Amino acid sequence: MSDLRALYQSLIMDHGKNPRNKRPMDEHGEGCRCSEGYNPLCGDKLKLYAKTDGDKLEDLSFDGEGCAIFTASSSMLTEVLKGRSIEEIREVANSYLKMLTEEDVKLDPEGLGKLAVFGGVKEFPARVKCATLPWRALEAILEAVDEGRETPDQPVITE
Ligand code: ZN
Repeated sequence: MSDLRALYQSLIMDHGKNPRNKRPMDEHGEGCRCSEGYNPLCGDKLKLYAKTDGDKLEDLSFDGEGCAIFTASSSMLTEVLKGRSIEEIREVANSYLKMLTEEDVKLDPEGLGKLAVFGGVKEFPARVKCATLPWRALEAILEAVDEGRETPDQPVITE
């Protein structure tokens, strides 16, 4: 556990300070969708952008302001999922959210790779929503892609 904890701290610090794929996209560009998110508990604010051809998320980026856990989670989401198929992404998103929101889930589920370090956030219940916000926004995008519509104007708000 202490190895995972050390890895958790170094990855979160690294991605929190030097986020990857932090850039806005033209949300009205072809195949682009944008989902907004807000976490009132901490003040994290997010815009998550995805460009898709219907099978893959060819490009993923985010913009926003928030705490280190929120920034690191958004950054790692885009880094790990960019270019992968929507089907794969849905599986990863389900395991990630399960890991953080359900009791008695093992903290190192298969298939999550280095995203598993966010299991450590469970030790700080007040921060769980910081780590799930970008994933909720991603779910809103996947739903919109499924239903062939634009992402909704109203933001995803964690409760
Ligand atoms: Zn936060």
